[in-house]
Amino acid sequence: MNKKKFTFSSASVEFYFEALFSRLDTVVDRKKAIIITDANVFDAHQSKFKNWNVITLKPGEEYKVQPTADAIIEQLIAFQADRKSILVGVGGGVVTDLTGYVASIFMRGIQFGFVPTSLLAMVDASIGGKNGIDVGQYKNMVGIIRQPSFIYYDQSFLKTLPDAEWSNGFAEIIKHACILDAKTFQLLESSNLEKVKKSKKLMQEIILNNVKLKAGVVKRDEFEAGERKLLNFGHTLGHALETQYELTHGQAVALGMVFAAWLSGNLLGFKDAARVEQTLINFGLPTRGAFDVEKVFNVLKMDKKRISKTMSYILLKRVGKGVINDIDVDALKTHLAAYNETNKKKK
Ligand code: ADP
Ligand code: ZN
Repeated sequence: MNKKKFTFSSASVEFYFEALFSRLDTVVDRKKAIIITDANVFDAHQSKFKNWNVITLKPGEEYKVQPTADAIIEQLIAFQADRKSILVGVGGGVVTDLTGYVASIFMRGIQFGFVPTSLLAMVDASIGGKNGIDVGQYKNMVGIIRQPSFIYYDQSFLKTLPDAEWSNGFAEIIKHACILDAKTFQLLESSNLEKVKKSKKLMQEIILNNVKLKAGVVKRDEFEAGERKLLNFGHTLGHALETQYELTHGQAVALGMVFAAWLSGNLLGFKDAARVEQTLINFGLPTRGAFDVEKVFNVLKMDKKRISKTMSYILLKRVGKGVINDIDVDALKTHLAAYNETNKKKK
């Protein structure tokens, strides 16, 4: 086991890498812990949960809502949980979000920790202290920024992760590399999904690298005053596409990153859009597709990060260097339309 502490402004988080779930009791007392997981993770790893208190949720983003939080709270009361109880979210981003959210409101806040089991949760969702739920069509509309006490990595969970979830994780991994780290980008660029899945060591390196990248950004800007905005690379258009079309988060963000790379070419003279696109393809992600500009733009301009007539759009100055760019909302629409025409021609 490899232990690292990251200190954020509000709290420090203990990271346990290369850890085994069977040793989780060295980090958290079984008597105080209540595990929250979902049925997929529970069914695929039943033996791991023996002798722990467990609350099992229905899987899926559609359950990341207040009624699920209420149901968890009722079960906590049934377990006679108190202020000393510790919630442990064992699952993907939905489970870790709900766990952090419920732990932050139950009895005005109790401790919590995460065992991320999806690649996305390992490298992204579980890090940073953002714990939210969705309200109607609005994602993460309600929630809190509060850090877990620990994040515990057992890579063996990945053995049962469905293929689609692998590419979801890699969309965020490629994002981190694009905005923050040219070296990691080169590693990804010269690899592909098949290769990394076969190599436990390579995966270990990628996970550790990405945790450092994401935790570094969060540490420098926990409350999203500046640098943390870079993590929205690919997400402005991505979120809009995700609500309008049947795309996974990773697919939508991949499409958003290709547009942002293209726009970076137009506005900042960025030369490597093709490299970004090819790397996404290496990891099974879609990169092109025509969309309804009017419909997508209407959702996009409602993005909650917008201030007045301009919005912050994350662009690339070069590979490994993301920048925050203020762009006029109307100009953005013109760019979107022009970009969409190039996609139609590619089909
Ligand atoms: P995220 O993509 O943010 O991690 P979810 O929590 O919805 O979001 O996880 C994605 C899907 O993968 C869910 O259906 C979840 O049940 C499933 N899942 C997560 N981890 C594993 C795992 N280790 N084995 C099998 N399925 C998993
Ligand atoms: Zn994302």
